[in-house]
Amino acid sequence: MDFHLNLYESQEFKGFAMDPLEHASIPGLVYLALAPEPKVGALVALTIGAVFPDLDALAEEHRSYFHSLLALLPALLAGYLLKGLPLLFALGWASHLFLDFFTGVIPPFYPLSRRGWGLSITVIGPRNFRVKAKLIEKYPDKRHDYRLEIGGSFALALLALLVAIIRLH
Ligand SMILES: [Zn+2]
Repeated sequence: MDFHLNLYESQEFKGFAMDPLEHASIPGLVYLALAPEPKVGALVALTIGAVFPDLDALAEEHRSYFHSLLALLPALLAGYLLKGLPLLFALGWASHLFLDFFTGVIPPFYPLSRRGWGLSITVIGPRNFRVKAKLIEKYPDKRHDYRLEIGGSFALALLALLVAIIRLH
């Protein structure tokens, strides 16, 4: 009984949030897969860039200032010009917004406009199986407390750590 309740709650939450472990692991794995000679410093810069935008959770609204293209684009430009660690930091940041676009909305012009967009993809089945994609439009959530089920992302983070140990040795 209790188990069902927990499952239901975690699924409800998962639709609207990615936790820091997922935000760190996914670009980290991409980097470890693509870099000819991956470096610890580069992986750290990428990971910090990938995780820090959720400091917005401390602001009045979550997914606000650091989830805006108005903040990301200058950082990407600076990263492009400076190369090296600043570029990896900016790419980590970009990966955060990319992932959040599929798990809720990002407000591209915050704080000029609070309106955000995202792509919701839903699978329904197994009977009458179908996949639905829908562009959603929403304003950032007010700051609130979280209750996230992070078992799946913990497993993902362990795999990313294993790959990092093998690739960086
Ligand atoms: Zn976020």
